[in-house]
Amino acid sequence: LLSARGLRKSFGDLEVLRAIDLEVRRGQVICLIGPSGSGKTTVLRSLNGLETPDGGTLSFAGGPSLDFSRPVSRRQRSALRDRSAMVFQHHNLFPHRTVIQNVLEGPVQVQKTPRARAVEQAETLLERVGLLDKRDVYPFQLSGGQQQRVGIVRALALRPSLLLFDEPTSALDPELVGEVLTVIKELADEGWTMVVVTHELSFARAVADEVLFMDGGVVVERAAPAEMFSRPRHARTRQFLERIL
Ligand code: ATP
Repeated sequence: LLSARGLRKSFGDLEVLRAIDLEVRRGQVICLIGPSGSGKTTVLRSLNGLETPDGGTLSFAGGPSLDFSRPVSRRQRSALRDRSAMVFQHHNLFPHRTVIQNVLEGPVQVQKTPRARAVEQAETLLERVGLLDKRDVYPFQLSGGQQQRVGIVRALALRPSLLLFDEPTSALDPELVGEVLTVIKELADEGWTMVVVTHELSFARAVADEVLFMDGGVVVERAAPAEMFSRPRHARTRQFLERIL
């Protein structure tokens, strides 16, 4: 579905990504783990066109290969954005819009889906995550876990080929983490392709097809979760896992 090669990005003197390679096959779940500042969020933002790498290439199946060593046009960036949808650490819902209005924003305003059809799809998705009865309330009237589930529905409503999750549970109270991870796991079981930045190792173990450990802007190690968590090959991976387990 997606192939990235040698992605590089610096902010001033700080090299945040140094030659990141990433292959994502359709239906695969990839989890990115690693210490704070290792570049995980920047990888997601690069895949989604929110950040433009300084070098490397990126291509989605059926699309052209973008070469970041040359200038990338706005049209190319927006084509990239259409392929994936991102769920942020903080749900980023519009506070003055109701749940359904938040979900409809992308399909109706951006994708020009006919309103009636978009409403029908939005309601189906809200029902799936158990929030249809909240369709007309405002985000502040929801718990953090419910807000994040609406954030997920908003991403799904765009019907992307790839879902990107940036630490979707790290801003939640511990008792709300489970309900959000359950929704993400169900989506994975249904065959959605996703890249998930997470510190929830038990989730990664249960759901990921492949785990990438990043440190200092490089992928230090990539392996199936059972392998990564029980037999990490690199000392840096071992140190990181020992600290957070
Ligand atoms: P965390 O788990 O804390 O979110 P991360 O692994 O996702 O960390 P990134 O958010 O990708 O890491 O950030 C990598 C580094 O790049 C950090 O040192 C961060 O301060 C820096 N950085 C990220 N975005 C910018 C920016 N727009 N301008 C300057 N520096 C940035």
